[in-house]
Amino acid sequence: MNEADLVIVGGGPAGLTSAIYASRALIDTVVIEKMLPGGQPILTTFIENYPGFPDGISGPEFAERLESQAKKFGARIVTSQPVREVLQVDNGFEIKTEEETFFAKAVIIATGTSPRKLNVPGEDTFTGRGVSYCAVCDGAFYKDKVVAVVGGGDSAIVEAIYLTRFASKVYVIHRRDQLRAEKILQERAFSNSKITFVWNTVVQSIDGNRRVELLKLRNVKTEEISELPVDGIFIYIGSTPNSSMVRNLVELDENGFIITDNFMKTKTPGLFAAGDVRSNTFRQLATAVGDGAIAANSAEKYLGELIWKH
Ligand code: NAP
Repeated sequence: MNEADLVIVGGGPAGLTSAIYASRALIDTVVIEKMLPGGQPILTTFIENYPGFPDGISGPEFAERLESQAKKFGARIVTSQPVREVLQVDNGFEIKTEEETFFAKAVIIATGTSPRKLNVPGEDTFTGRGVSYCAVCDGAFYKDKVVAVVGGGDSAIVEAIYLTRFASKVYVIHRRDQLRAEKILQERAFSNSKITFVWNTVVQSIDGNRRVELLKLRNVKTEEISELPVDGIFIYIGSTPNSSMVRNLVELDENGFIITDNFMKTKTPGLFAAGDVRSNTFRQLATAVGDGAIAANSAEKYLGELIWKH
């Protein structure tokens, strides 16, 4: 079995920051990441609100820097292994992936969130064939094409603006007549001539033959049904927490986010949570990184106390 003092589940900004702090404090640390290290920034075009980068930094570059910094201090990073379950056992935790079981004296859950789905007919059928949850990954396929973005939060607006680099037209379909996104983003989107807003409207179905061709829309105020021909649809309607692997060991809020105290402690001693998977957090890069540092510090104290007890 793979053993470590600390296993961090999730290799996004929170997890990798925990790894930097823990391994720099000479704690034997393993990060288990379900895909590639980096987390949400890998899927983000450009980060312009992270302190210390006045000219901004590309998401993938930021992710790479976090990874190399964690490795520099000795953290081991295991990739492409989704963690299925975390169990409390004598003197620590078993962390089970499909292929391996790891043992750790302390665990930090930094698993973030997954995109929420619209749950409308056609969404699953056309995923990868015109339905996308990642503009950075798929945007370039839509050069001179018409796309729709669903949602009114920061993600929808940031990515709608990004998609105007490629697409000839970007419709933003939002269920209300006001955006949730921050004002600076709203202003940029409103002044972008390629973006057209479709207010008070939800997507009823996604249709096409081999690829997406048409959206059926419903105006929630007038109940009017309309059709919008598009080549692609990018769905940014928020996210759901990846917390199921510890649901028996932590308290979850009504939306499934993990409840911690200010020291990132969950209700199980030795089990901490950090970043977007945590309840009641601002869900920004800067806060994820802060959570990660605090969680590592709490884990370090916990591990120190274990040594005193034995
Ligand atoms: P979000 O803030 O939760 O926004 C989700 C949007 O989708 C809302 O406009 C919501 O409408 C809409 N929506 C939710 N369920 C829907 C449904 N079933 N059908 C249609 N529309 C639906 O999510 P997010 O934009 O992904 O942002 C998540 C967090 O990351 C936020 O804290 C955000 O500030 C942060 N973030 C920040 C930046 C940045 O700082 N630049 C960039 C990206 C993300 P309502 O408005 O009507 O609820």
